[in-house]
Amino acid sequence: MICDVCRIREAEIYQPHTGRRLCRQCFIEDIRKRVEKEAEIIGLQKAKKILLAVSGGKDSFVLADTLASFIDHNKLIAYNIVEGIHGYNRKEQVEQLKKFLTDLGIELIEDSFKDSVGYTLDEMVKSSMEKGLNVSACTFCGGFRRKLINNAGRMVNADYVATGHNLDDEVQAIVINLIRGDLIRLIRFGDKPLKLSSKFVLRVKPLRKIYEWETTMYAYYKGYNFQEVECPYITTRPTLRAKVRELLYILEETKPGSLLNIIEEFDKISENVRKEYSTTSELRELPRCKICGEPTSYGREICKNCELLIKSGLLHQNLPIS
Ligand code: SF4
Ligand code: ZN
Ligand code: ZN
Repeated sequence: MICDVCRIREAEIYQPHTGRRLCRQCFIEDIRKRVEKEAEIIGLQKAKKILLAVSGGKDSFVLADTLASFIDHNKLIAYNIVEGIHGYNRKEQVEQLKKFLTDLGIELIEDSFKDSVGYTLDEMVKSSMEKGLNVSACTFCGGFRRKLINNAGRMVNADYVATGHNLDDEVQAIVINLIRGDLIRLIRFGDKPLKLSSKFVLRVKPLRKIYEWETTMYAYYKGYNFQEVECPYITTRPTLRAKVRELLYILEETKPGSLLNIIEEFDKISENVRKEYSTTSELRELPRCKICGEPTSYGREICKNCELLIKSGLLHQNLPIS
């Protein structure tokens, strides 16, 4: 069968949401164009410096490869964190990532929880369990990762921090926040980044309209050997996300293009809600943590990360009485 776009090469891939059959080159080109379009909406092309938060997974590969196809590599700088998870963080993975980024002309900053927080993720989880805390590894992992990525973005004077979240991740997060009724958190998910603290570097997700299966195929076609070992803590992930993920798969299968429609409609709604909120005090500057000085949620005196360390017996400070 011939490719529906170039009408020259043999089609290899069926794209359910467009109903087209594409050859390898036209598929790669399609992904790049869609990422470029999203980057234009965000304003990435005008940035002087963009920090790419890369994990070594397929999405971070696709993020770097697509952005480097239309943004000068000198404006891109990558940042990787080794969480310190036994059997999961492998040296070869960082080496492979480094080689691939070097080939693209992108510098890589290497960091780890051990160096920047003082403990590996395994050590944090062990201590919290010994103290009888019922907190998942992912809560520690996500919180500290966000903080370190933001610090790195500030350190290199980046205008934006770009992460590799894909369409599936993004719609799952939107639905979860809808279920929880968390409007402030929800409107952060629009296509334009929202800055709630002068200490935050704007976070953007250029792959937010690319399906997960598409990032997998892109990485595969480009010959990238991505990490296939699953994190041993994956089973501690909140079950609501797993359920939402499952439901969204069924929805997409029944009506291809559903996830794209959800995100496009959501962006319009979030734009309007933001306008409304900007005239109220709801979107005011976030308070700062009394211990580390980083932004924390409204109504908190110390951030969740510092609180977790204190409760795990890894930071010796008194918790404010709540
Ligand atoms: Fe971190 Fe959880 Fe992901 Fe493992 S599964 S890397 S602990 S967020
Ligand atoms: Zn083609
Ligand atoms: Zn703090």
